[in-house]
Amino acid sequence: MYGYHGRILIVDLTSQQARYEPLGEDVLRAFIGGIGLGTYLLYRFCPPGADPLGPENPLIFVGSPLVGTRLTTSSKFAVLAKSPLTGFIGDSLSSSFMATELKGLGSDAVVLTGFCETPTLLFLDSAPPPSLAGKREEGVGLEGSGDAVNVRFLPAGHLLGLSTFDTEARVKEELGDRRIRVACIGPAGERLVRYASIANDGGRQAGRTGPGAVMGSKNLKAMAVRGRAQTTVHDPGRLDEIGDALTKKSLGPATEKYRVLGTMANVAVFNRLGTLPTRNFQQTTFEGAEHVSGEVLFTEHRVKDAHCANCTIGCEKILITKDAGPETKGRMEYETLFALGPLLGISDPNAIIRAARLCDELGMDTISAGVTIAWAMECAERGIDLAQSIAEHSHSPSPSYAEGLGVRSAGRGGGALPPPSGKGAGGRGQFPSPSYREGLGVRSAGNGEGSSFLPLEGKQREGEVGEVLHFGNTDAVLRALNLIARREGVGDLLAEGTRRASAIVGHGSHAWAMHVKGLEMPGYEPRSLKTMALGLAVSTRGACHNRSSAYEADFSSRVDRLKADEARGAIAMQSEDFESVLDSLIWCKFLRKAFDDFYAESAEVYERVTGWPITPDELRRAGERISTLKKLFNIREGWARADDTLPPRALQEKLSDGVAAGLGLTPEELDLMIASYYRARGWAEDGTVPEAKLRELGLVDVFASFR
Ligand code: SF4
Repeated sequence: MYGYHGRILIVDLTSQQARYEPLGEDVLRAFIGGIGLGTYLLYRFCPPGADPLGPENPLIFVGSPLVGTRLTTSSKFAVLAKSPLTGFIGDSLSSSFMATELKGLGSDAVVLTGFCETPTLLFLDSAPPPSLAGKREEGVGLEGSGDAVNVRFLPAGHLLGLSTFDTEARVKEELGDRRIRVACIGPAGERLVRYASIANDGGRQAGRTGPGAVMGSKNLKAMAVRGRAQTTVHDPGRLDEIGDALTKKSLGPATEKYRVLGTMANVAVFNRLGTLPTRNFQQTTFEGAEHVSGEVLFTEHRVKDAHCANCTIGCEKILITKDAGPETKGRMEYETLFALGPLLGISDPNAIIRAARLCDELGMDTISAGVTIAWAMECAERGIDLAQSIAEHSHSPSPSYAEGLGVRSAGRGGGALPPPSGKGAGGRGQFPSPSYREGLGVRSAGNGEGSSFLPLEGKQREGEVGEVLHFGNTDAVLRALNLIARREGVGDLLAEGTRRASAIVGHGSHAWAMHVKGLEMPGYEPRSLKTMALGLAVSTRGACHNRSSAYEADFSSRVDRLKADEARGAIAMQSEDFESVLDSLIWCKFLRKAFDDFYAESAEVYERVTGWPITPDELRRAGERISTLKKLFNIREGWARADDTLPPRALQEKLSDGVAAGLGLTPEELDLMIASYYRARGWAEDGTVPEAKLRELGLVDVFASFR
């Protein structure tokens, strides 16, 4: 088999057993790899109604046919699990050398099931010396068949409390090989913060939808990978020619924005267009935008650019603080910048750099962290005492908690009443184990790079940070991030994300809880980007810009971005299906404009890699199949038509400023667009998928195989 290995590695953490399982050509061709293959595996390995923080929720790492080739931006992998934030599909992408090491294990995916009794470092080592292959040694599991992977379960109690950076460094040091790649969680994942991320390669993050919380619930502090298997391709000569041409285009005008300012360039543009979410989406322009624009950050704070492995674009901007405080270096891109800057009313670039770095150290998604803190700031400014609300809630669990969540019976993230910190029935169950939690106070001595990862004292420890949470307070943001990662005081509430936190606090605070399906909103104002509004509402992973990218249409001349109409359904569908293919092959999003004909060129690449002919239309159809399978997973987990919506603020309040001031988005306008989207997809009026559509996409046979 070319491009693939034709099998997956399944590691059961409970029994410490591992095995390979074959993966047929039909499945690989149908779902490609990355998010597509991951969705198939999630559907298969996650039992219906599984508690996202229980042992039955699998944690799945998936490569792609392009990993291991020389193709630019192709060193990527997907991470999937049922999301602890949404109770629906949780899918994230990450990059760099970990992708090639995972593929070097000789499998197309690694599926982790069960949980570890004690904090564990899982070490997957491909093709070990013959003397080790298949042998059980201290803490060792067993290998698969044929060319072996040595699976070792090593104690990790001493790593608890370490930042993601320190964890990675310590694991490499202890295993004695700096080329080993490490995926790990920080303190946030250990504490099951629902938007915790999994970090790899010095700060790359599988960030959205909370995979780090799932890893934490498995008592898995880190997974180290050393892969040696090679990827063979069907037509290396022609692939080299294509690869060279793509590399050339990746250095041309199509990617110039990413190579120069990176996505930070969006700040000034979005501010001008009245679509820069500010102070928890209360405004669309930010008076401090010029202080945090990409241009200013690039000129005054940039240290260098960074690349993922195998990338010729290098969109990552490494910034450094320039004030009297501790010198801190951090990565920056638009979503982090908006969420920790304008959204919180913060115009000090130094504060944003420190907050961004802190999120990476603690292992937290910057978007969800920023949006949740913004919600808390608005609560505080409206006179809601969060500490008091928590106390009231803990004394008298209110039925409105469940109602506010929109939780319907089983299958939506672990029961009807997930308590604030997941304690008790329906939350995280017995995980992490008491012994695991006892070790959580441990911190490393140094976190490098001028960390804001500091001990908490006095008021902070008592959770009184809520008193000083107001827009523009930079110190409060750093304190809040530390409290969230430790689940201390008000941090325990904010660790739950906006949907659950607003349901606990009440006082109508769900009205400014900016999420869709429980996932916090990215930096696009939906009222002034109507196609994007639809994309956010129907997205299977919740408020997500990457799985939809419907904003592309709004920023083009194809539509009037300020008006809703029935043409948006087809546009949103095409956009989603395009992203499904992109995320399954996996190409970096920032390469997309370098293609002249994306489907034709990608089809040729797929054929040259795998040797399996595929037409552009078949590839497009694969995108539709993958998008539909994501929806089917959600339907199985309790999705209903009412879940495809936007936060009350987006549907009830008009924009207060900017070029679109006075404009809103009515529920009727959104419904009209959603109906057009279902029609474009050939779905029923209630958003379910008819049998005929399943047949058309070849999904009936897939489900039959599960049975
Ligand atoms: S363009 Fe940026 S995100 Fe994409 S592969 Fe390159 S460095 Fe990574």
